[in-house]
Amino acid sequence: MRQRFRARAVVVGDRAGTVVLDAVLDVGDGLIDWIGPAAEAPPAGDAEVVELPGVLIPGLVNVHSHAPMVLFRGQGEGLPLDRWLREVMWPREARLTPEDVEVAMTAASAELLAAGVTTSVEMYFHPERIAAAVTATGARAVIAAPLIPLPGLPPFEEQLRAAVDLAAGAPADGRVEYGIGPHAAYTVPLDVLRAAAVAAREHGLLLHLHVAETASEGADLLARHGRSVPALLAAHDVLGGRVLAAHCVHMDDGDLELWRSHDVAVAHCPASNAKLASGVAPVRAMLDRGIRVGLGTDGPASNDALDLLADARLAAQLARLAGASATALTAAEAFWLATGGAAEAIDRPDLGQLDVGRRADLVHVDTRDLVFEPVGDAGDLLAHLIWSGGGRYVRDVWVGGRRVVADGVATTVDVPALRAAVAVRAARLSGV
Ligand SMILES: [Zn+2]
Repeated sequence: MRQRFRARAVVVGDRAGTVVLDAVLDVGDGLIDWIGPAAEAPPAGDAEVVELPGVLIPGLVNVHSHAPMVLFRGQGEGLPLDRWLREVMWPREARLTPEDVEVAMTAASAELLAAGVTTSVEMYFHPERIAAAVTATGARAVIAAPLIPLPGLPPFEEQLRAAVDLAAGAPADGRVEYGIGPHAAYTVPLDVLRAAAVAAREHGLLLHLHVAETASEGADLLARHGRSVPALLAAHDVLGGRVLAAHCVHMDDGDLELWRSHDVAVAHCPASNAKLASGVAPVRAMLDRGIRVGLGTDGPASNDALDLLADARLAAQLARLAGASATALTAAEAFWLATGGAAEAIDRPDLGQLDVGRRADLVHVDTRDLVFEPVGDAGDLLAHLIWSGGGRYVRDVWVGGRRVVADGVATTVDVPALRAAVAVRAARLSGV
């Protein structure tokens, strides 16, 4: 089936911030096969024509998430990261069942879709249940199977073998991709990190881990090994291949140079870093060095929203404050970090931008609202998306040409029933 979308404008999601006014976008077999001004469009033929009053943007790509943690949203409010993990999160997570993860991920996936996020990089327990959840909602996920030392989990070698086996069995339709997710250098031994990296390179998998999130996590390793976390990872053969490092807040020039030379990508999580007072990642310096950067929400227990457009605004705000410059990150760049730049950060050139040949992951933002006026030139629409818009203006979403959100609500699953199920399960997990 062929589809033709006609919109007030298309925002491409490229680094330059291209906006096409009065636009047409054609889809065949789930892929974009034509895009441009309506005046230049080829005949529609027998395509189903979808008229959209607003703006069509790429499905957003969230490059760091633990979305099943909607079960723990707002819990442990006000605690520092180490106490929040040890006193609130880990005791709850010890009680998690596979069914909890699937229900929570299904609910979270519906929430992500409704905010325009069509792909998320997930790192959480029971990865096969996360895959089942996004299969139900119709979203895409890159699922980094976690490696973490917790009571009740098998030894690392077994966790790693299971992760590699899972990846080998992933379907080839691009909906679910598996990677390997060793938690961090302060929780996972260096020889395990190296083994995970070797396996990821051998099988072409994404290796996803947390790096330099807080000032204190590195101090311990520095005292023990005399090296920063990035230098330690480089020395232990963890870098190289498809490496995606979340946070990277506390990075000096030498660390950034290691990231550049090993082509390590960064998942920038401004809302989580702000909420937990971790610091402000040097995004401008990363981009200027040519380091690939995408935006992540992080888990909904440390954000607490799953609204990537709101986080794009915060990324621009923090970069400008940190650089004392109103040009430190443009609206176009902030939008690109959630779309085309994010797709580059996870090596998925099939996602993130509205270009011919890419997957038809499309988000319709209703611009019939005062926050989207005035529009003097095309760039104003992009500026409004970042500075006054947000996920709540998303009306319709298609993934691979399949409609999964209508009128702001996921159509593939029962959202009110999922909310009720999350509430019941969260109460049990809190142990009260
Ligand atoms: Zn995280």
